[in-house]
Amino acid sequence: MTQERPGPRVREVAVGSILSPSKLADYCLNPYAGCEHGCVYCYARFATRFSHPNEKWGSFVDARTNAPMLIEKEAARKRAGRVVISSVSDGWQPQEKKYCLTRRCLAVLLRHSYSVFLQTKSALAQRDFDLIEGHANVEFGVTLTTVEPGVARLFEPGASAPCDRIEVVIKARRIGIRTFVFLGPLLPYISDRGVGLRELLDTVAEVNPDYFLVDRLNPRYGMWGSLSAALSSYDSGLVPEYRRMLYDRQARDHYTMELRHRIAGEAGERGLAGKMRLCF
Ligand code: SF4
Repeated sequence: MTQERPGPRVREVAVGSILSPSKLADYCLNPYAGCEHGCVYCYARFATRFSHPNEKWGSFVDARTNAPMLIEKEAARKRAGRVVISSVSDGWQPQEKKYCLTRRCLAVLLRHSYSVFLQTKSALAQRDFDLIEGHANVEFGVTLTTVEPGVARLFEPGASAPCDRIEVVIKARRIGIRTFVFLGPLLPYISDRGVGLRELLDTVAEVNPDYFLVDRLNPRYGMWGSLSAALSSYDSGLVPEYRRMLYDRQARDHYTMELRHRIAGEAGERGLAGKMRLCF
């Protein structure tokens, strides 16, 4: 039986601006701070280290309820460019069902001819396909770190099941949107080799997106505690292996080299080499 997760503590907050300059694109837009998906390896937790010190990642969400009002002003005033939604949270995490902040901001951006790059782990995103259908300046993709539902539940406890994410990106492709699949971070010894990796690349071949990205697991702010706890319940023998891969420079270089080789081999076997973009 799957244990029900307690809902997050939700705060409604007002922010000063919503369209921020970004290294990933021209701008990023985060209608939420904190993410109920609570991925144990999440790199975004640094963004709330001052506003939510000592609160468990995944247990709180700030809904920036003035985001739709701000974006109306900022989108009109700023140069129309490429916007990533979202960079430090998931724009379609469960609270979005109630607040519709991502949906409302997206509608404004498209009206002002901004290009949008949408990435999610939530099947809720398909609710907004009526907005993006017919837009050539939209890219939509889902993140997959594994196709195994039990593994995903452990490492990404609040996100949609992998099969639901896959269905959503297939739907996006069917309505003519440019699509991608983000395989990352690949979980060492779980989905970065053997059956786990083959299943992921078989899925990419089945979805047939315009391109797919691959990333390795990176050591980032505050993630070790939740990552090692999840690993301990999956297979405690992996804890020292992960520690070495993340924090020992030589082991990490070796791991990276081997991973690149494995990915290239599996992608090549499926005729996917031309669609692959490595992030490391
Ligand atoms: S969905 Fe993204 S932002 Fe949300 S917890 Fe997972 S990795 Fe972090």
